[in-house]
Amino acid sequence: MLVLSARQMASIASAAEAAWPAEGCGLLIGRGRRVVTVTRVMDADNLLKAEGNDRFELDPAVRFAAERSVRGTGERVIGHWHSHPDGSAKPSATDLAQAWEPDLIWLIIGIAADGEGRPQAVQMLAHRLDREAGKVIPVRMETAEKRACQGAVFPT
Ligand SMILES: [Zn+2]
Repeated sequence: MLVLSARQMASIASAAEAAWPAEGCGLLIGRGRRVVTVTRVMDADNLLKAEGNDRFELDPAVRFAAERSVRGTGERVIGHWHSHPDGSAKPSATDLAQAWEPDLIWLIIGIAADGEGRPQAVQMLAHRLDREAGKVIPVRMETAEKRACQGAVFPT
């Protein structure tokens, strides 16, 4: 289970819309094992944005900075996000071929043009990719706000 706040989702959606028509990308920092909670989102430059709108390579400098920033904090790099300018939030064949870190969560945002041709985030899904088996495993997502409501005890 992946827990993100509504604010984190909105910030990822705007960064992905801003990167359109190329793919946008960034890192997810968080904590927890069974329930993984995102604590921070870091946007990164897509080094392959000039080479087509169906691929991304996260700037390794951002990954290094992220690894440095979590040292000794209990946080870790739990995954990354990237966008698909064709509106799909499912991993592509390119994504599966790139999935060399099986522990990472892949958050994918589908971006499509609205009626006026403006980019609009239309879908957001989380996955784990098993490259060996060529399999995509869906990861349940919940907003931090929804979890907070579930845990609340209301006076009767
Ligand atoms: Zn992709």
